[in-house]
Amino acid sequence: MKTRTADIAVIGGGAAGLTAAARCAAAGKKTLLIERLSRPGGVLQQCIHSGFGIHRFNEELTGPEYAHRVLTQAEEAGAEILLNATVMQIDGTGEVKTLTVYSRDEGVLLIRARAVILAMGCRERCRGNLGIPGERTAGIFNAGLAQKLINEQGLLPGTRAVIAGSGDIGLIMARRLSWCGVKVACVIEIMPYPAGLSRNIAQCLEDFDIPLLLSHTLTGIYGKKRVEYVTIAPLVNGVPDLAQEKKITCDTILFSVGLVPENELSRACGIELDPVTNGPRVDSSLMTNIPGIFSCGNVLHVHDLVDFVSDEADRAADSAVAWAAGERPGEAAITVKAGKNLRYTVPHRAEAGKTNHFYMRASTVMDKAELRVTSPEGRIIFSKKLRYVKPAEMISAAFPCPEESTYTFTLENC
Ligand SMILES: Cc1cc2nc3c(=O)[nH]c(=O)nc-3n(C[C@H](O)[C@H](O)[C@H](O)COP(=O)(O)OP(=O)(O)OC[C@H]3O[C@@H](n4cnc5c(N)ncnc54)[C@H](O)[C@@H]3O)c2cc1C
Repeated sequence: MKTRTADIAVIGGGAAGLTAAARCAAAGKKTLLIERLSRPGGVLQQCIHSGFGIHRFNEELTGPEYAHRVLTQAEEAGAEILLNATVMQIDGTGEVKTLTVYSRDEGVLLIRARAVILAMGCRERCRGNLGIPGERTAGIFNAGLAQKLINEQGLLPGTRAVIAGSGDIGLIMARRLSWCGVKVACVIEIMPYPAGLSRNIAQCLEDFDIPLLLSHTLTGIYGKKRVEYVTIAPLVNGVPDLAQEKKITCDTILFSVGLVPENELSRACGIELDPVTNGPRVDSSLMTNIPGIFSCGNVLHVHDLVDFVSDEADRAADSAVAWAAGERPGEAAITVKAGKNLRYTVPHRAEAGKTNHFYMRASTVMDKAELRVTSPEGRIIFSKKLRYVKPAEMISAAFPCPEESTYTFTLENC
């Protein structure tokens, strides 16, 4: 079996992995990125719309343009990129980590590295995760799959579609289908508010007169060889009101009902996962419970903006570079908790006596909120006013954390 060595191994060649690899290599570390597909870029490659890189590059790039930027940075910095190679296993015990990789060109490889960065992205939840009654018939797609078929292979999934879920992929696909001449009958959303970014509601639904039915659910999918119609109903007190059930004729359904970080590898090697984010539990250096293994991007928690993915990847890279050089992070003695109106916070532990960066998501929609971070004694450690908050839009904050304690993050009305 062939063995390769590196200072830092990066698993996954999407925005997170490429950004991290560029930064590690630029810091002079021998960096090897492993990507299972035949080209790097991850999900960016199928996102041909613009809207990427506004914060980071001060430009509105398409997904492939953003991927090209970060790939060029990684290559110019000297990172080695191994394509068609899938990491099958991580042995995180010991100072040097061992990855077992299946490479289409080289067979099974062992890669030994001082530090590992997990950047495996996420995958879509599908109909099976929801338990929608009705037929198993043709014409049912995940929104991301339909995006790939149209944008990369030039294939149209159907002629009249219903989109279940108002996540960003579903919204972007509503516009994409309309541009391709596919009639989008409606987007239905189980929650009383949209799951996607406001700009996507305006640009992808309102501009195309596509109805968004909030607090509605699919009650059935029907058709013999292919979808012929779906039934939908409004939710009343959280239960579908069948008296108001409606039939909508369509030959295609796209599901845009959430993303799940790909952490099978992480779980198998003993990395602790957060049941809310489905990503690793990390400290403020973005290190998991296995020393020397770091995590960033959608595998850590699902992001809506690639700019935040790259910022997080920079931080994971800086930590991995320091680790590979023999430095060790300070003790993460602060326990971080998501309290009222927040679904989660990342990282889960922070270091006292320095500035820590936090990302979090609201669990509800609020106008004029205040993010408050308090100690167990009720002392306010940090606060920040926010014009509005919604689950679709990640909140970020960076502030000095003076002392070891438990910090509870809450969103208050103000
Ligand atoms: C449809 C859609 C539209 C979006 N629109 C916008 C937008 O307009 N603006 C914006 O800023 N952001 C947008 N985003 C968000 C942003 O693009 C993503 O959050 C970001 O690109 C995710 O990067 P990532 O590297 O974490 O994951 P990914 O891009 O998913 O990359 C992960 C990579 O890891 C590889 N991998 C996984 N497991 C293994 C393994 N075991 N071995 C080797 N390789 C592995 C995968 O093949 C993949 O290439 C959008 C996202 C989607 C899905």
